[in-house]
Amino acid sequence: MSKQLGFLVDTEKCLGCFSCEMACKNEYQTEVKPRWRRVYPQKEENLPYPERNFMSLACNHCADPACLKVCPVKAYSKREDGIVLHNHDRCIGCRLCTMACPYGAPQYNEKERKVEKCQLCYQKIDRGEEPACVAACPVEALKIIELNAFPSMGTVKSLPGFPNIGITRPSIRFVPPRVGMQIRRDG
Ligand code: SF4
Ligand code: SF4
Repeated sequence: MSKQLGFLVDTEKCLGCFSCEMACKNEYQTEVKPRWRRVYPQKEENLPYPERNFMSLACNHCADPACLKVCPVKAYSKREDGIVLHNHDRCIGCRLCTMACPYGAPQYNEKERKVEKCQLCYQKIDRGEEPACVAACPVEALKIIELNAFPSMGTVKSLPGFPNIGITRPSIRFVPPRVGMQIRRDG
């Protein structure tokens, strides 16, 4: 595969404002649940400021997608640019993909009795536009990157709390939160 598009999440910049999540909902007029994009507060003890560090996550358009492997009706496909698509018409709602994906990306829609997930706004990508979540972020904490041409300096493949990346090789990179300098005053 020549290209692999994915998300760059800057956890130092993210404010936890939910604009990305709401932009996704507005774009596709989805139900309250599922949430294709979700903003998570960081609770892990080894992050410097757990009360103000957030991760905004959606489907990771993995290099080796578990969803695609388990789907019995071939509802998943991977484009040449690496985007993993889910075909709503083909889906029979068996939920095998929801069990296989380590990131909780495909979610069951109780009303439609089918699964759905982030499609990386592929229609916008094809028009040369940014995905709705990326365009909505007020602090540019979300970006689209091409992983095979991305200078990885200053970024990491995983953060505490993110599931094991060895299973599906998710197409996501993080700018980790900075550790603040400690100043001690004696006396
Ligand atoms: S994050 Fe889950 S649904 Fe998305 S491509 Fe990877 S395995 Fe599939
Ligand atoms: S819009 Fe940007 S700052 Fe707000 S929660 Fe999403 S990623 Fe974080």
